[in-house]
Amino acid sequence: MSFQLFGLPVSQGVAIGRAVMVSSSRVDVAHYFIRESDVDAEIERLRSSRDAVATELSTLQRDLPDDAPAELSALLDVHLMLLHDETLALATKHWIEDRRYNAEWALSAQLEVLARQFDDMDDDYLRERKADVEQVVERMLRAMARGSPSVLTDLPPPTNGAMPHNEPLVMVANDIAPADMLHFKRSVFAGFVTDVGGKTSHTAIVARSLDIPAVVGAREGSRVIRQDDLVVVDGDAGLVIVNPSDIVLEEYRFRQRQSELERQRLSRLRHTPAVTLDGERVELLANIEMPGDASAAVAAGAVGVGLFRTEFLFMNRAGELPGEDEQFEAYRAAVLAMNGMPVTIRTVDVGADKPLDRMSVNELRHEHALNPALGLRAIRWSLSEPAMFRQQIRAILRASAFGKVKLLVPMLAHVGEAMQTLDAIARAKQQLVDAGKPFVDVEVGAMIEVPAAALVMPSLLRLFDFVSLGTNDLIQYTLAIDRGDESVAHLYDPWHPAVLKLIEGVIRQARAAGKGVSVCGEMAGDPAFTEVLLAMGLRSFSMHPSQIASIKQNVLLAHSQRLVPLVDAAFRSDDVWTGCERLREAAARG
Ligand code: PEP
Ligand code: MG
Repeated sequence: MSFQLFGLPVSQGVAIGRAVMVSSSRVDVAHYFIRESDVDAEIERLRSSRDAVATELSTLQRDLPDDAPAELSALLDVHLMLLHDETLALATKHWIEDRRYNAEWALSAQLEVLARQFDDMDDDYLRERKADVEQVVERMLRAMARGSPSVLTDLPPPTNGAMPHNEPLVMVANDIAPADMLHFKRSVFAGFVTDVGGKTSHTAIVARSLDIPAVVGAREGSRVIRQDDLVVVDGDAGLVIVNPSDIVLEEYRFRQRQSELERQRLSRLRHTPAVTLDGERVELLANIEMPGDASAAVAAGAVGVGLFRTEFLFMNRAGELPGEDEQFEAYRAAVLAMNGMPVTIRTVDVGADKPLDRMSVNELRHEHALNPALGLRAIRWSLSEPAMFRQQIRAILRASAFGKVKLLVPMLAHVGEAMQTLDAIARAKQQLVDAGKPFVDVEVGAMIEVPAAALVMPSLLRLFDFVSLGTNDLIQYTLAIDRGDESVAHLYDPWHPAVLKLIEGVIRQARAAGKGVSVCGEMAGDPAFTEVLLAMGLRSFSMHPSQIASIKQNVLLAHSQRLVPLVDAAFRSDDVWTGCERLREAAARG
């Protein structure tokens, strides 16, 4: 049966492929195809995880105190029974043998099938057993993570007859954590669909950085799409078409070919300098999440990295944080890959929708925080962990001996935080001097992503060498709209006059103070805003490498002064609302 789902377009392009349902397990699951020769070893990993969990459960049961409630022992019996149930064991083997999924993927695929069967049951008691299966599978996944890993491969889907469709794959999930998205940097998926998430949620941001068509906030997607359904992901319109008719499919295949041609055409602009029609030179920088992304930045023609989101180095580490040397190696790798071009390294921004996976006191606090976006995140977290923070600063400073490094501080809201941060930097420098480790005096910048910071610009400009506008958070905090919540996504409005007014003020004041200013939020990569931001005086834009070519094309066709009168009128009039509407209409007319 053919049907459509509407969500939010977060990563452009069209993907057509077979649905792979991924359950949102609390355990990180890698997805890759294994070689035929590894099938037995993978089944063995599955078997040993089952044995390990059986021992674990039996030990738990044996050690139950005498006064433990009888239900507890009965529950462990149920888990042991589920563990040995054929529908779990045999069917999981089938995913490995026939589909060549790695063991973790096979297990989570089978969990997805079982979960649906439980959901469809009429009996309340039986329906609730779904949670038990999930717990058993989670234990097995954890046991696998502790055991010997299999070799990660970049193999394409196998071409054996058992693989029903030799077509690209589209991942469908309720949600994918930003940390899990990282696994997909080398993945086999051609597109993503999730039930939840906003346009600038970090999951969406990582999907964009992978340059894979994605739709988030598709609500019921993971419930109504079935494994192996043919899915069209329209990442431009935010549309998901399931089992399309032949005519619709042909239309989308045509669009796919067109966008590939367009991509090739734009890639020819790679070496062209970004200069407006009136001769204004514009700096197009890249946002990266891992050092390995720097090569994509260079390939896309970026003239530097405007935002290195270092928190991704801190994720998926099962309780450990990266040490100073490990961080230094990562930062140096990015700096060397950029070959003399500047690399702006942002200190860690965890919290909100980017939780760490370690069970530290802070994370416990985070889990219980009523409103994590307003809680201990970004610089607040760093300042609460001074040793960790100085370690990161030392690693960043040490990388400065190998190229041009700038240090960027996220989410400042208070001049007191700025002073504390500068003090931490001074101490880290002294520690490096004492240890005889070389570094260069780097420029230090403040991210302006909280309205409070935008409103005290003169005070911040005295303390920092440059500022970078984090428009994703600035919009979230100005409009009180959770950027990751699809139910209020329609209210998340970058065109809101309050947002534009703050942005305009930050750019104007930074320029007047002779300090560098850039935008590194998603607005920088949105072609609808290029000419508006140019008219506000912005000359530095930082975005995903995949967006650079189309923004460059916009810059080449733009006149930096065309919208200046409308910008002036909007922010000097009493009626900023109407002024911004006119600005928007004029921007759309191009
Ligand atoms: C932003 O908030 O605009 C930004 C660039 O930071 P992040 O998206 O990582 O929060
Ligand atoms: Mg931010």
